[in-house]
Amino acid sequence: MYRTHTCGELKINDAGKSVTLCGWVQKSRDLGGMTFVDLRDRYGITQLVFNMETNPDLCGQARKLGREFVIRAKGTVRERSNKNLKIPTGEIEIIVNELNILNRSEIPPFTIEEDTDGGDELRMKYRYLDLRRNSVKNNMILRHRVAQEVRKYMDSIGFIEVETPFLIKSTPEGARDFVVPSRMQPGTFYALPQSPQTLKQLLMVSGFDRYFQIVRCFRDEDLRADRQPEFTQIDCEMSFVERDDVLDTFEGLAKYLFKKIKGIEITEPFPKLSFNEAMEHYGTDKPDLRFGMKFTNLTSACKGHGFIPFDSAEHIAGIRAEGCSEYSRKQIDELTEFVRRPQIGSKGLFYLRYGKDGSLKSSFDKFFTPGDLGQLTSEMKAVPGDLILILAGDKQRTLTALSELRLEMGSRLGLRTSEKFVPLWVVDFPLVEWDEETKRYYAMHHPFTSPRPEDIHLMETNPAKVRANAYDLVINGVEIGGGSIRIHDTALQKLMFRVLGFTDEEAEAQFGFLLNAFRYGAPPHGGIAFGFDRWVAMFGGQDSIRDFIAFPKNNAGRDIMLDTPSPILDRQLEELMLSIKKPEKE
Ligand code: ASP
Repeated sequence: MYRTHTCGELKINDAGKSVTLCGWVQKSRDLGGMTFVDLRDRYGITQLVFNMETNPDLCGQARKLGREFVIRAKGTVRERSNKNLKIPTGEIEIIVNELNILNRSEIPPFTIEEDTDGGDELRMKYRYLDLRRNSVKNNMILRHRVAQEVRKYMDSIGFIEVETPFLIKSTPEGARDFVVPSRMQPGTFYALPQSPQTLKQLLMVSGFDRYFQIVRCFRDEDLRADRQPEFTQIDCEMSFVERDDVLDTFEGLAKYLFKKIKGIEITEPFPKLSFNEAMEHYGTDKPDLRFGMKFTNLTSACKGHGFIPFDSAEHIAGIRAEGCSEYSRKQIDELTEFVRRPQIGSKGLFYLRYGKDGSLKSSFDKFFTPGDLGQLTSEMKAVPGDLILILAGDKQRTLTALSELRLEMGSRLGLRTSEKFVPLWVVDFPLVEWDEETKRYYAMHHPFTSPRPEDIHLMETNPAKVRANAYDLVINGVEIGGGSIRIHDTALQKLMFRVLGFTDEEAEAQFGFLLNAFRYGAPPHGGIAFGFDRWVAMFGGQDSIRDFIAFPKNNAGRDIMLDTPSPILDRQLEELMLSIKKPEKE
């Protein structure tokens, strides 16, 4: 046997056993007569001991071992005198009597320790070394566990995992496609799926009434922070369901995962908030409900006092920061700077302090009588000790800016801890949104999302008012998943394409396969997809998904380890009948 045990399993009651271990040299220490080597594998670290007095040759060899050498050591387990209770194997060590170097290692480009000296780029370039570090390795194990639990649960409620192709047809909706040229049909291209959306709908037409897949999706978007051009979804679809059947089913999955992965039992049903309520009260369609600070609309209470910033505003709203009435001038200035940042775009911040002694002091005192200020505090349901923060301006921008300010206050007050999880469903999204640049409507979710039946009559006359039968699962301010009840009727699907500005011919050319399928008995159906990477990162208590993906790309979409994207050979281009246009000289 190559090894009898792993480096993570020997305990005090194994003392006296003869064992063989294999692994990497984490570090070694010479203490005169003794040399200690920490041997690491996927399972843990075990201390090896070499004794200069009893085995000088072997001890000499041990002293020459470099970091990350791969070795095999045979020896006897014994109780350690100097125990390390921080690690599971810390009560024992192996007194080694045979040592083989299985492979040498160059000095690694960064230290393979928790506190590594490797910067991001270096860690990505040598990702296979980075994956030896405990934290990244544990993220991979967590990812594996979540995937296994998802499969277990979905199987237990009758879902079938079906794989769908990666080489599919390019469709102009949504994000940009990654395309793959065809050699056999030169001049034509496959696209990599942005999601298996239409394919899972076809599976419903086929009668697989409960489908899921843990599947890679590809979107060629300009990378915003923490997006990956390829990412993984838990993709699901069901037939003969209405919205709440889907929500109940996947609330079940979410609760199961919280219990299995985090040991958290969520017994309450997830609250449902409409898109409009979410926007009015939190200024975002993904509110972080770990804390309150719901917006209060102060438009009518604030207007008409001769204070121009209020009187000229379309919308005025405030939040109540509990216990912050003693914020210093400097703290208020910081918050003002915060809302004035170009990304947030507010002109200024207004405040009203409700002192612990009941006093009222505001940044607009000259224009408001004490009675007016009292009126504001009662609108805000404020109590002594509160600080009321107010923004004013055009409606959309004010709500969005106040949402950012709310999150900032939540963070400052320590209300956004990573160990608390507050899920909710956001429902009734608008079906379409208008794009000023291209002067047309785009599907807010995707073009296969059905309108609420009672709003269908508005589709041709006032599409912007139509609510979709769409929903998102939001946890701690992060969109974890989204889906909808689909259109399953050819005529309604054609109407939807028309609303989106497709001619019937264009719709037929792009989506003929789906429209055709709908002619052969499409069942009512709906589904959802979850961002698997993001969910795992959240369970891991981190914001960034990158360290939960074995081989991720950097923010420019490059794999720096593989050094790609990269040119291909002229021969390959010829086979594909492609030529590369040289960038024009300036
Ligand atoms: N395919 C959709 C997406 O990727 C999710 C869904 O509607 O099921 O966003």
